[in-house]
Amino acid sequence: MADECLFCRIVRREIPATVVAETDECVAFCDINPQAPVHVVIVPKVHVASLNEATDAATIGGLALLAADIAKREGIAESGYRTVINTNADAGQTVFHVHLHLIGGRRMTWPPG
Ligand code: AMP
Ligand code: ZN
Repeated sequence: MADECLFCRIVRREIPATVVAETDECVAFCDINPQAPVHVVIVPKVHVASLNEATDAATIGGLALLAADIAKREGIAESGYRTVINTNADAGQTVFHVHLHLIGGRRMTWPPG
């Protein structure tokens, strides 16, 4: 399954992406369909289908800490940004490799649609 997984393939550099950050645990790349001036997808290097299957706190926590680092570097840490993990159908998850969206650079509304 991980062989065919889109985000595993990006992690392995089999599919091109604009990588903006990489750690031992995570890769961050620009979303192909950005919803804001900054829209980065942050994924663990290990294949985990969704938050429901996650068991390792460091893997999931690392996504959030890398998001904050990128937000600071992109200059949106003070103005604000949103971090989102969509899980399964009601949240609109479309790629089943857990990922955290970092979205910012514009004013957002709440609640989300
Ligand atoms: P989600 O709907 O939460 O599963 O988010 C999946 C995200 O992956 C969407 O925002 C897509 O635009 C993005 N996406 C899909 N394919 C690619 C790709 N090849 N490179 C970068 N982002 C992608
Ligand atoms: Zn995967």
